[in-house]
Amino acid sequence: MGFLKEIKKTNVLMGRLRHGADLLDEITGICTDRDIRLGCVEAIGAVTRARIGFYDQEKREYGYYNIDEPLEITNLTGNISIKDNSPFVHAHVTLADSTGRAYGGHLAQGTIVFACECVIEVLEGPAFERGFDRETGLSLWSIKEGG
Ligand code: ZN
Repeated sequence: MGFLKEIKKTNVLMGRLRHGADLLDEITGICTDRDIRLGCVEAIGAVTRARIGFYDQEKREYGYYNIDEPLEITNLTGNISIKDNSPFVHAHVTLADSTGRAYGGHLAQGTIVFACECVIEVLEGPAFERGFDRETGLSLWSIKEGG
């Protein structure tokens, strides 16, 4: 079942991530440290290597592949919500190699920052909580009513 909720932008954080950091862990760490429980994230920059996931809709599981070469982050788009009562970052990336060929998918741990400029929009609204979704096998949003 789909739904839409009204939320408000409250704050925007803009900055640079640490060289050598794990891209996903670094964004998650910022959200945990600042207790950002609802938001959006976008970034550009470069990574020294990448690990990307693809959800197999039939097997209902993620497969992962590594790209062991420097890549440009031509786009990172993601959101921040709650999973197991902690801030959880779900992000997708498009990464381009030296010939301009692009890879894309679900950002996984193992993608290492060379340089990264990041914008996080902090949102205010009901708690978006991830829980098991039977239709897809994914961990999708639901809203706790009264929350
Ligand atoms: Zn994803």
